Amino acid sequence: TQNPETHEFQAEVQQLLDLMIHSLYSNREIFLRELISNAADAADRLRFEALQTPELNEDDPEPRIEIRVDEKARTVSVIDNGTGMDRTEVIDHLGTIARSGTRRFLEAMTNDERQNAQLIGQFGVGFYSAFIVADKVTVHTRRAGLAPEDGVLWTSAGKGQFEIASLPREARGTEVTLHLGAEQDEFLDRFRLKSIVRRYSDHIAIPILIAEENGELETINQASALWMRPKSELSDSDYHDFYRQLTFDTEPPLATLHNKVEGAQAYTSLLFLPSQAPFDLFEPEGRSGLRLYVRRVFIMEDREHRLMPRYLRFVRGIIDSDDLPLNVSRELLQHNRLIDRIRAASIKRVLDALERLAKEESERYNSFWSAFGTVLKEGPVEDPANAERIAGLLRFYSTHETSAPSVSLADYIVRMKPDQDAIYYLTGESFAAVSNSPHLEAFRKHELEVLLLAEPVDEWLTTHLTEFDGHPLKAIAKGQLDLNQAESTEPPAESVSNLIERVKTALGDRVSDVRVSHRLTDSPACLVVDEGELGIHMQRMLKAAGH
Ligand code: ADP
Ligand code: MG
Repeated sequence: TQNPETHEFQAEVQQLLDLMIHSLYSNREIFLRELISNAADAADRLRFEALQTPELNEDDPEPRIEIRVDEKARTVSVIDNGTGMDRTEVIDHLGTIARSGTRRFLEAMTNDERQNAQLIGQFGVGFYSAFIVADKVTVHTRRAGLAPEDGVLWTSAGKGQFEIASLPREARGTEVTLHLGAEQDEFLDRFRLKSIVRRYSDHIAIPILIAEENGELETINQASALWMRPKSELSDSDYHDFYRQLTFDTEPPLATLHNKVEGAQAYTSLLFLPSQAPFDLFEPEGRSGLRLYVRRVFIMEDREHRLMPRYLRFVRGIIDSDDLPLNVSRELLQHNRLIDRIRAASIKRVLDALERLAKEESERYNSFWSAFGTVLKEGPVEDPANAERIAGLLRFYSTHETSAPSVSLADYIVRMKPDQDAIYYLTGESFAAVSNSPHLEAFRKHELEVLLLAEPVDEWLTTHLTEFDGHPLKAIAKGQLDLNQAESTEPPAESVSNLIERVKTALGDRVSDVRVSHRLTDSPACLVVDEGELGIHMQRMLKAAGH
């Protein structure tokens, strides 16, 4: 080797390593899943890069992952012919944590080892799991397209530092070798390794091979795209395994939607509705929901929400098109009628499934709602064409139901008074603030139900969702309220007029008007905004944001 250099791990990496070794020990076999998943990612990335630059394939276009065992040296290696890494990439990717993953991973760690084992995959810190079983790890790699002399060797004992050196490498791609620690001999057993691969990595769509003692290669996994198999051949547990490998979610999905669309423009979609929210659901850079394939070849993740809109970003799964060109670019995806059609059909499938769930299994729907309701509320704004359907899926607290947000607009309409002309709602900063608001007094007196909206997104929602099923939605904290025409048209008595004048003088410019109200039964006064103006809560939010 040449040009050896010693580098320190980022402090957080070392902390993570120590924690991981202790807290994952009884699930340590997952190191293999993580190394295989990195190898498969590298193969996918190479396929994508080679669409533009075919030379990268270097006469070796078939992706493959190989496991090699050396009993004498007590090593296990995972070898891929993916992109490989150049020197800078090695330093950046295997020594620091580029994504904000580590700190949050550390915070999210629990006492549940199984849970932690899934978290590793979600947070992008999988490589380091090698140190649970190894007391030394080497990575020998060569970037596709670079010369053999540009090979790099990374070595670390996982104790604060790593060494990096040049070492020529003929083969493109990466070889990760684990020098097993004491008492880790079980991982020299090929039978054990094969069963781990089948358990965790069966649905990786690239062949995973193991070199037998006599040198022969055996393929361990199915290596076929599960979504291409007929539904009738697939069991719930096949789908669940696939889902788990795709998402690292610990819970099985709430619903699985597998569709094959035949005809002039054929594609297959396999969509999952998760049952719990991922940690990054509300982050702008959160992991995207869908993966796009063209004829079984992975093309890209749907980071720009082209296949599935943002308000359905919790949907996970794959879309595999037979008719898109293999060299699709992001630009092409932006203006492609086939993609438009796939998107519209996928939205429809998800909304259908949610409607079905709401109708047939309301309890499971409520648990879906508590995980993803806030996201779905972005829907009427983002997707006006489906606003009415989405509105039908929304659930709220109301004066009629304060224990859980389970009131649908349809439920509300059923309970409306015969002469009631609107669906009433009140928005505010918190459930406590809205449910104790003086605005509700007159409605309680008249036994009129009011929806209680306390999430920030509700302000946006209600500016766009102005009616449902022919009934207008009306903010009870806005404008004149004519709950009782007769009362409100009576001219105020002289003493009341005098009071109003005095209040107006006292408040001056701070209010635009002071009126007699029939909204209140107990409280002396309340603030109201004019019809068509932003709600008070929205005005406060904008002010707080510096507007
Ligand atoms: P994640 O895979 O979620 O990004 P990891 O800790 O598993 O997190 O891997 C860190 C990074 O190291 C990867 O994102 C990738 O850039 C690089 N890497 C790891 N293994 C390989 C490999 N076999 N080939 C190419 N790059 C790799
Ligand atoms: Mg990984």
